[in-house]
Amino acid sequence: MKGKIIINKDLCKGCGFCITACPRELIVFDRAVNAMAIHPAAQSDTGKCNGCGLCAIVCPDIAIEVWREAKQMHGSTGSPSRAKSRGNYGTKKS
Ligand code: SF4
Ligand code: SF4
Repeated sequence: MKGKIIINKDLCKGCGFCITACPRELIVFDRAVNAMAIHPAAQSDTGKCNGCGLCAIVCPDIAIEVWREAKQMHGSTGSPSRAKSRGNYGTKKS
């Protein structure tokens, strides 16, 4: 399954929980600082995310949004499923 995350860098306090949680080691600290002068989390490789959502689940500041590519069935086009905040996966469509 393919996934994608969006990190709201200005909400990030740099705790690093998401970096530890990602099983694919796809999250690092950004070189640039955010509005709080903190090096926020950033995704290092956008092509390898599986949309597992662990990074969003552990984020205490709800700074990470997870998107999963929907399965396509019998010629239907499908659309991305959105898992916004703390592991509420796959029910809301964009
Ligand atoms: S959704 Fe899963 S694989 Fe993707 S960045 Fe977050 S923890 Fe890593
Ligand atoms: S868990 Fe949330 S607040 Fe902590 S580094 Fe990751 S995005 Fe930032």
